Amino acid sequence: MTIPTLDLNDGTAIPQLGFGVFQVPAEDTKATVLQAFEAGYRHIDTAQMYQNEKGVGQAIAESGLARDEIYVTTKLNNGFHKPEDARRSLDESLELLGLDRVDLFLIHWPLPTRYDGDYVSTWQTMLELRDAGKTTSAGVSNFQPDHLDRILKETGQAPVINQIEVHPYFPNDQARQASHRHSALVEAWSPIAQGAVLDDSTLTTIAEEIDRSTAQVALRWHVQRGDIVFPKSVNPKRMQQNFAIFDFELSEDQMTTITGLDRGEDGRRGPNPDEMDVIPD
Ligand code: NDP
Repeated sequence: MTIPTLDLNDGTAIPQLGFGVFQVPAEDTKATVLQAFEAGYRHIDTAQMYQNEKGVGQAIAESGLARDEIYVTTKLNNGFHKPEDARRSLDESLELLGLDRVDLFLIHWPLPTRYDGDYVSTWQTMLELRDAGKTTSAGVSNFQPDHLDRILKETGQAPVINQIEVHPYFPNDQARQASHRHSALVEAWSPIAQGAVLDDSTLTTIAEEIDRSTAQVALRWHVQRGDIVFPKSVNPKRMQQNFAIFDFELSEDQMTTITGLDRGEDGRRGPNPDEMDVIPD
């Protein structure tokens, strides 16, 4: 199956489907990512916070895949927002990944209540790292509309991506629309709400109608909306299932019905980015 690529605002392109490794234990990461490559995935989403970049790097090295066949994203940890820390931490990530550049480097959380609310100099550093060739593209994650407005106003440069929580119970429309207004594409994290939407009767009914799994229906809803997804699974069968979402389509009615599952703020599963202030040890 061919995975479509989407054009980013810096002239590069990103595979619309990838593989997320949040909560994949460090000791299992190499084997899990190798299975994901086997299933056809070529886009891996990791983060300094996940503590499994080394396993991702080992899988890349063992896969025998050419560097330009793989798209690798990592994210700046919350304790490293100061420019000198951000620079050092990307060097460490590159070392762990065994790469001389990543494809995409994201500020993981804006942390508006930390660092005197200064995520702008962090963003400026991301742009410097891009200009230095250590990351091909620079983006953000969990940025709210006002955070996006501010970095654009103060640096004149929009991120290529805003990676935010999006799934049928939490479509996150405001952050999504603000990202699009700033010419950034949306990456939808926890696209199946960490499994929470899989028993939803509306989704299971649609899945039965079209003879697909509920996870496939939810993931297809995302890609038809134009977002990028990277479901996580340590189970090879589910990896394959989640990969097979480009050979069917949801009707307009089915899309509208799924969008109607929105539970507003109650649907959110992760922290609210305006309040998130955790700096891991
Ligand atoms: P997902 O929505 O991808 O759900 C993962 C869970 O669903 C796991 O428990 C998995 O179990 C299960 N699952 C996966 N596929 C299926 C299937 N086909 N059928 C049944 N169950 C399934 O959650 P994540 O939170 O992992 O989000 C995906 C990625 O998004 C992360 O890995 C990470 O890369 C990124 N992310 C980014 C964040 C950010 O702040 N920027 C925050 C959270 C996530 P099993 O493994 O046993 O199959």
